[in-house]
Parts: sequence; structure tokens; C-alpha cells
Amino acid sequence: MDLQPSFSFELFPPRTPEGVAKLPAALTQLASLGPNYFSITHGAGGSDQDGTYDTLVTVVEHTGVEVAPHLTCVGSTRVNVARSLHRYQQAGVKRIVALRGDLPRSSANSSAPGDFHYANELVSFIRETCGDAFKIEVAAYPETHPEASCPGADFENFRRKVDAGADGALTQLFYNADAYFDFIERCERAGINIPIVPGIMPITSYERTLRFCTSCGADLPRWVRLRLEQLQNDKPALLDFGLNVVTRLCEALLRNGAPGLHFYTINRAEPTLRLWESLALAVPA
Ligand code: FAD
Repeated sequence: MDLQPSFSFELFPPRTPEGVAKLPAALTQLASLGPNYFSITHGAGGSDQDGTYDTLVTVVEHTGVEVAPHLTCVGSTRVNVARSLHRYQQAGVKRIVALRGDLPRSSANSSAPGDFHYANELVSFIRETCGDAFKIEVAAYPETHPEASCPGADFENFRRKVDAGADGALTQLFYNADAYFDFIERCERAGINIPIVPGIMPITSYERTLRFCTSCGADLPRWVRLRLEQLQNDKPALLDFGLNVVTRLCEALLRNGAPGLHFYTINRAEPTLRLWESLALAVPA
């Protein structure tokens, strides 16, 4: 296994002309930190398939850093997924983040429309059709996926993705290092030894942090929530507090063996740069 920590930065396809115009400057700053790769999100049902591809091209052109497109399968067909995989192979992509994607709001239960129901089926499909052409990352949920019936069932479903051929996992955001270490212990007991890289969301706003945590079922510790609430009208103080909380989280993770960090950048360089500096991580000469 690679002993150097892996650092990756997640981007999303910009949705406005302003977002498109700002991306190159953010990319240049983020690339200066020497990440292992940039990953690029993908709307469920292929809604922004071209957006993912176009962003991928922009990243390669501006940085030359490896790119890993996310590929969601919910609402998609085998033919469409095969087409995307072919396009990525042609573009020289070597790593895919394979996901189910969020179900359309109209789906009353977890039975997804299309040829795929769960991410493990997508991982199997990629291996069947492309062999080892791609390194496959999947999602992991230290605090349990919000739709899962229980943590045990969710863990078994995570194992299905590993058994189907995942090479590594990136976690959902969390602010509670113990949840991550508990998940790693469960993996060790189950004989799962792929790298599971924590997903890190910098804290830059009270409302946004609350919204992200609520939408993905992440626990925001009470003391953090109360402090952010109190500081919401004092932006510099809130940024400093958020930076301290996330720095301590990252330090604890790296000190105790996390194989790297995956930063949710939301297409902004500043929060990740501040965190990088605060963690005193290396910057390539
Ligand atoms: P799965 O692993 O399929 O799990 C989904 C749910 O189904 C879980 O509750 C699981 O327990 C259950 N389940 C899984 N397999 C089975 C089975 N065989 N039988 C019964 N139940 C099962 N979303 C996007 O739309 N675009 C993105 O680009 C994107 N990027 C992400 C990146 C990361 C690092 C993470 C952590 C999440 C990302 N998401 C993205 C969100 C993700 O799509 C949602 O969390 C989605 O609801 C689940 O996707 P999954 O791949 O984890 O699904």
C-alpha cells in the first residue's frame, strides 16, 4: 500500500458564467499545493454529464494534475454508463469515483429507476466492461448513510462495493473523528483493507455547515453548532473558529493513521489553502 498520504480536491461543474470564469484561478492556487488528483462531481441521472467532462478538460488544461470524474448510476442505463466510461478512457482518465447518486425526490422508496439500483452494481459493471483500466473509489459513511435501515446493513452494503472491486473509498464529511476510527475498526475486523480517505469540509459559514450536515446526516457537535451560531455575524471570528475545529480534526485523523484527506473545496481555493497552511502540509518547491 502507498505510505504517502493522498490529498485530493473535489470540484463541481460550475453552473453559472461567473463560476466558469472564476474556476481557472482557483485551480491554479489549488494545484500549487501538489494534490494527488482533483475529483469532479456528477449529477445523479447524468444531469450534468457534459459539465463533468468539460470541467475535467479545464482542470487538465490548467493544471496537468490527474482527474477523477464522479460517475453516478441512478436513473442511467448500461448503454449510457458504457458510453461515459469509453469517453473517459479516450480522455486518458485512470480513476473514477463510482456512486449511486441521490434518488430523484419523486422516488418514494430506495428502488431507483434505470438499469442500476446501487453503487456496487456500478462497480461490478465497470470491472466487467473495463477490467482494471480504472482505479475505482467508492463512498463510505462513517456515520451511516441516511437511508440505511441500520449501521450493520449499511456496512454490509459498503462491503459489497469493496467485494465488487473498489480500490479505495472517500468518506462523507464528518466533524467527529471517533466515527471515522470506529468505521476503520469495523473494516479491519471485516478484513477490508482498502484505503478509506476522510472527506473534509472546511467550515466557512454557520448556515452552510448546518445545511450540509442536515442533508447528508452528519453529526455537527452541539458545541460547534452553538459557537458557530454565536459567531455567525462576525465572519473573521467564525472563519478562525472553523479553521481551528477542522485543523484539529485533520490532525487527529492524520496522526492516527488516516491514509490522506479529500477536501470538499466547493470550487473555492481560499478555505483549503488556509487549512493546508494551518496543518503545515508540504508545498512542492
Ligand atoms: P450506495 O452505496 O448504493 O448506497 C446507497 C444506499 O443504499 C445506502 O443506504 C446503502 O446502505 C443502501 N444499499 C447499498 N447497496 C445496497 C444493496 N445491494 N441492497 C440494499 N441496499 C443497498 N452524489 C451525486 O449525485 N454526485 C456526486 O458526484 C457525488 N459525489 C459524492 C462523493 C462522495 C465522496 C460521497 C461520500 C458522496 C457523493 N455523492 C454524490 C452523494 C451520494 O451519491 C449519495 O450519498 C447517495 O445517496 C448514495 O450514493 P452511494 O454511492 O454511497 O450509494
